[in-house]
Amino acid sequence: MKICFATHNENKLREINEIISDYDIVGLNEIGCTEEIPETGTTLSENSKIKADFVTANYSISCFADDTGLEVEALNGEPGVYSARYAGNERDNLANINLLLKKLETHSNKSARFRTMITLNLEGETYQFEGIVNGAIVSELKGEKGFGYDPIFIPEGYNRTFAEMSSEEKNAISHRGRAVAKLVQFLENKA
Ligand code: IMP
Repeated sequence: MKICFATHNENKLREINEIISDYDIVGLNEIGCTEEIPETGTTLSENSKIKADFVTANYSISCFADDTGLEVEALNGEPGVYSARYAGNERDNLANINLLLKKLETHSNKSARFRTMITLNLEGETYQFEGIVNGAIVSELKGEKGFGYDPIFIPEGYNRTFAEMSSEEKNAISHRGRAVAKLVQFLENKA
């Protein structure tokens, strides 16, 4: 059975196809959807649902979509759903990091978490899966791997940032890895 993963990101697509074998997971490009789906929600849950619903409504195909945010406790959950564009529409990772560090400078509580929500529309039903990794923000950037806020995030129980970990090591404990594992388990039970 064919399911669309609402993403233009070929890396995310390849990754998921490596772990799901019972379904044919295709990306937005493969179903002819080249546009950027507007993310107008105010929560990760809403945004992932908006993307999945857009595809199901316009392309009549089962679909899942993900949305991720970094939630910093002392900043009341910021940048959260606005993680990609925290410092502006350019989606500049370094500018986002610098803005976050500036805002957090005066706070002693550095606790943060990454959270991923996945919404799956499958045969007329909607399901959601959440993945969380707790950790802390460090003020000095460390590591070259990964992307986004990885150089300033140390997951709980470790003393290295996500940017200092291999992708296998990160995926095994990450927010996205955990949400995807729940999705995979669900789909395998259905197959
Ligand atoms: P998306 O929903 O996967 O597109 O993620 C939204 C934004 O959250 C990205 O543009 C990054 O700034 C941030 N982000 C998501 N996942 C990660 C991660 O694994 N590490 C660091 N930053 C991330």
